[in-house]
Amino acid sequence: MFKGILIEKDEAGYRAALGEIDDDRLPEGDVTVRVSHSTLNYKDALAITGKGPVVRRFPMVPGVDLVGTVEHSSHSDFEKGDGVILNGWGVGETHWGGLAQMARVQGDWLVPLRGLFTPSQAMAIGTAGYTAMLCVLALEAHGVRPEQGEILVTGAAGGVGSVATAVLSRLGYSVVAVSGRPEESEYLKGLGAVEILDRAEFAAPGKPLGKERWAGAVDVVGSHTLANVCATTRYRGVVTACGLAGGMDFPATVAPFILRGVTLVGIDSVMCPRLERLKAWRRLASDLDVSKLESISREVGLTEVLPLAERMLNGEVRGRVVVDVNR
Ligand code: NAP
Repeated sequence: MFKGILIEKDEAGYRAALGEIDDDRLPEGDVTVRVSHSTLNYKDALAITGKGPVVRRFPMVPGVDLVGTVEHSSHSDFEKGDGVILNGWGVGETHWGGLAQMARVQGDWLVPLRGLFTPSQAMAIGTAGYTAMLCVLALEAHGVRPEQGEILVTGAAGGVGSVATAVLSRLGYSVVAVSGRPEESEYLKGLGAVEILDRAEFAAPGKPLGKERWAGAVDVVGSHTLANVCATTRYRGVVTACGLAGGMDFPATVAPFILRGVTLVGIDSVMCPRLERLKAWRRLASDLDVSKLESISREVGLTEVLPLAERMLNGEVRGRVVVDVNR
């Protein structure tokens, strides 16, 4: 038996509860992992509360991230005792995820921990931080350099936004953070933001084109915010879109793309190919100041996850939540 959160959906309704789960209920997979830590991401909060159609098979253990030690492996790359990280690949959606003390997964989904980070640091980064790094890699791949101008980061006090702000500023970019929480201004400046803008400035419908300001952007909000970010991006600037915290819609015009040559890059962490993942994790190891993770993250036990999920969807949770599944 092991402890874990289980989401069920049946005639009694949609519910998530912490309980004891039999080992023989673990799904198919060639690597069994003794989980030490998981995280609470926005997507996990949607899954736990049932407020978004994240879970596609029931019963489901949520948790799109996990870190732990290999307990058993029939995969040639992994053996008992190896430290491993898992982000995405549908865990917590179609395959049991990390918010439990045991997991059984495909070895092809695993990234070796190999001294990159401690387990707790790896989860302080988690899917949010690794997605932030995918955004940074996309900005770089499209030619954005620090000397070209300011980079805008929306939802900056959240998980993706916090890591994006920390990494970009460490790389020498001038980061302007957008946040709805003025009380987090000092926190954001501590991560390296040079200016904080109120999220309300971006939330309402705007003009097709505005004053050109951003050389690049990391957007986690979507909707009018993404449209306004594109409309104020400089000639040939690059906008990376990875989230929908403000809405799934994209009420924009093509003006920024056809008149200013702006590039809009979609970022997906879930099915991102393995080589790019390995690159993102290596770059996090070199370009994220791990001392910043202390202010970005906090650690909770499995029992605290369910109430926190509601608060996360209300935008009340700062940075990253690491879950010690043995606490
Ligand atoms: P998070 O920690 O909850 O942060 C989201 C932040 O967005 C909040 O902290 C808040 O920042 C801002 N926000 C919340 N509601 C908003 C609203 N109505 N309007 C404008 N801003 C709002 O979540 P996260 O883990 O960083 O994830 C952010 C988004 O990226 C989510 O939509 C998530 O699903 C998505 N995501 C996508 C991928 C991918 O593979 N594409 C991977 C990870 C995450 P402030 O308080 O600073 O305003």
